[in-house]
Amino acid sequence: MLRKTYPYYLASRPQTSKQMLDVRDKFSGKVATRVAVPDAKATEKAIAAAVQAAKPMREFKPWARQAVLQHCAARFVERRDELAEALCIEAGKPIKDAAGEVTRLIETFRIAAEESVRINGETLNLELAARLDGYHGYTRRVPIGPVSFITPFNFPLNLVAHKVAPALAAGCPFVLKPSEKTPIGALVIGEVLAETDLPRGAFSILPLDGAHAAPLVEDERFKLLSFTGGQVGWQLKARAGRKKVTLELGGNAACVVDADQGPKLDKVVARLIFGAFYQSGQSCIGVQRIYAHADVYDALKRKLVAATRKLKSGDPKDGSVFLGPMIDEAAAERLHGWILEAKKGGGKILCGGRRSGNMLEATLMENVPADAKANRMEAFGPFALLAPFRKFDEAIAMVNDSDYGLQAGIFTDSLDHAMRAWSELEQGGVIVNDIPSFRVDNMPYGGVKLSGLGREGVRYAIEDMSEVRLMVMRES
Ligand code: NAD
Repeated sequence: MLRKTYPYYLASRPQTSKQMLDVRDKFSGKVATRVAVPDAKATEKAIAAAVQAAKPMREFKPWARQAVLQHCAARFVERRDELAEALCIEAGKPIKDAAGEVTRLIETFRIAAEESVRINGETLNLELAARLDGYHGYTRRVPIGPVSFITPFNFPLNLVAHKVAPALAAGCPFVLKPSEKTPIGALVIGEVLAETDLPRGAFSILPLDGAHAAPLVEDERFKLLSFTGGQVGWQLKARAGRKKVTLELGGNAACVVDADQGPKLDKVVARLIFGAFYQSGQSCIGVQRIYAHADVYDALKRKLVAATRKLKSGDPKDGSVFLGPMIDEAAAERLHGWILEAKKGGGKILCGGRRSGNMLEATLMENVPADAKANRMEAFGPFALLAPFRKFDEAIAMVNDSDYGLQAGIFTDSLDHAMRAWSELEQGGVIVNDIPSFRVDNMPYGGVKLSGLGREGVRYAIEDMSEVRLMVMRES
């Protein structure tokens, strides 16, 4: 059960406020709970506290950081059902997907607990010439200092975890702004962090809207801004001054189905359906463009349409429902508009295509014009298009004909095609024999082109949140 109200966290302590934010059940539209909203003074206090906490956090030993991360993972296990229910309500996420996200939250903290005690340096051989005899170099990684985080609505727990857990492992105090649409996941993480013996000020969690988050972007006391969200990220980077910036942005992920997949189409279809429609397609690596070889195109289309028609939609709290609502009516209206535009341009709706409020049917289309928004932009909803190719070169070109490049998938039995895809696709990652939507929390994850800058995945985020410090020692 959600509580009636949730505090925000300032300098590691819960805070109430006169100003409250309503958080709605995304299926019923009713107010489900309310969240205390910090004022401008609180943001300044949070930054000052993070600056003050930089030294104690640096001196908080790796074993102590590990103990904090292990405690969090254990508490999330205990609070698994409550967390899943919160996600289901605040994000409209089907309860099975919500439970899956809680599992990933736990895994991300466990991975960070392991990584926290293996942040190592190296020994450098500096004796490159006789004049350098007796010189030795050593490096260690030191925490970068206070960091700021901004996260989106679609994974309210695990995308927060991908910033918070590496920061704790690296020894960085942080100020986090979760999405104002789904702040509860982050606030429960805050509640669990507040149970630990982290140095005072190590974390603040401020459920602000974007308009009030400027200090998290612009303040030079932060050494890193890590942002996950939409294209606004590039504007934030331009305002971020000297700090490092990592951007995890959107995509319009493509998946190739090769000519040899005929005997395996049922398996391929099951994965494509999941990739395109899970969480109502609100995943940055959701399958949006399916390119199938002409030899298998018709059979694949038939099977995809049949499977899509069987998907049960409705209240995400019902365990048998696969397709819940989109985050709000505006989001559903936007994508529905793109579907109608593609249809007007000659596209054919194979199934779905209707909308009621924030519920949009799982929609498959073909013949979508190359310049249609449904093709070029990030759909971020329950939509996928199909198109055939004849030569493998064509498939590569079709995937690359995008302004985005997060992950792509390819189903093939050909090692040559798999290797070519890995080499030639302009992507952060290529998934062979599975969908682009595949992610495990220790792998490097991030995009090229408009899809972002830098990589998350616990170890990679720790690298961003720490820097190399060199010591040179001369034999005396
Ligand atoms: P969004 O960009 O609207 O919001 C993301 C966060 O940025 C929110 O907390 C929002 O309040 C904040 N924000 C917006 N404008 C701001 C501003 N001017 N200053 C400061 N903060 C601001 O994105 P969303 O709708 O919450 O999430 C969907 C987007 O996130 C999609 O594009 C999706 O692909 C992307 N995403 C990317 C990844 C990834 O890892 N690459 C993962 C999940 C979601």
